[in-house]
Amino acid sequence: AKKDGRNAYRFFTSEMQAQSARTLQLENALRRALERHQLSLHYQPQLALSSDGQARIIGAEALLRWQHPELGWVSPAEFIPIAETTGLILPIGEWVLQEALSQLHRWDLAGLPKLTMAVNLSAVQFRHDDLPDLVGRVLAHVGVPAERLELELTEGAAMENPAAAIIVMKELHARGVQLSIDDFGTGHSSLSYLKKFRVGKLKIDQSFVRDLTDDVEDRAIVDAIIRMAEALGLETLAEGVETQGQLDFLRRQGCQAVQGYLFSRPLPAEAFAAFVLAENPP
Ligand code: C2E
Ligand code: CA
Ligand code: CA
Ligand code: CA
Repeated sequence: AKKDGRNAYRFFTSEMQAQSARTLQLENALRRALERHQLSLHYQPQLALSSDGQARIIGAEALLRWQHPELGWVSPAEFIPIAETTGLILPIGEWVLQEALSQLHRWDLAGLPKLTMAVNLSAVQFRHDDLPDLVGRVLAHVGVPAERLELELTEGAAMENPAAAIIVMKELHARGVQLSIDDFGTGHSSLSYLKKFRVGKLKIDQSFVRDLTDDVEDRAIVDAIIRMAEALGLETLAEGVETQGQLDFLRRQGCQAVQGYLFSRPLPAEAFAAFVLAENPP
């Protein structure tokens, strides 16, 4: 097939056509997803590790889910990029913020321990001038203190324009919101920027956690990230923790918090509350 340039070309374009047809279909469907109530949030527990071997639920990460009547469940890995190129991420992101904080408020009323709500921010939202005001408005509207919200920004998004990122982080920080760098280790940031970013936490990317028990290099990378975070006074949370072996290594190295299937998959709100109450009886 490699020699037959024409066929290879034809194959390539038909695949590209199928791809763009799917993208167009998703784009059109996504335009109506919000108003048709097809979007929902699942929540994954975040746990703090203590030296006595315990793990305590300290927060939840809100993760967007889309269920379409014909297309079924569409992965955020597929639809978030489409939401970003079309700008739909702005209304969707505002809805996520509003919904996640309202849920946090309902959990407070239901007597759950005071948790932090971590919400993912797209680079598109982060670049939007209105972001700090929008966050302030939603917090005030829901009536949740700013420090209960943690915004997760990927390292790649922060490094798109570090100087601009520093300004937005300053504004959000001034409002009392917590910030963390998501997918840390994948985005080429430098020590000097980390010092200037107003973040309190690095989320160690799951690609480094996956093979932690047998990959010497990944162990060295994770150890280096934790040491560097300590030196800068930042906390670390490892994501994608699936095994006891990974957990043991992370705890030994002094990682403060974890998140992953070992504890729980992302859950609908009611299941999350039941999970928390089973772990921390009132
Ligand atoms: P992320 O922010 O890095 O989220 C972590 C992803 O890892 C989630 O996938 C989560 O379900 C998955 N995960 C958690 N624990 C484990 C584990 O132990 N093993 C493995 N293999 N995976 C685990 P999900 O929910 O499919 O989300 C994918 C990405 O979509 C997120 O990556 C984030 O970048 C984006 N995303 C999700 N919700 C939102 C949102 O509300 N806004 C924005 N802007 N992006 C979102
Ligand atoms: Ca995240
Ligand atoms: Ca991540
Ligand atoms: Ca990711």
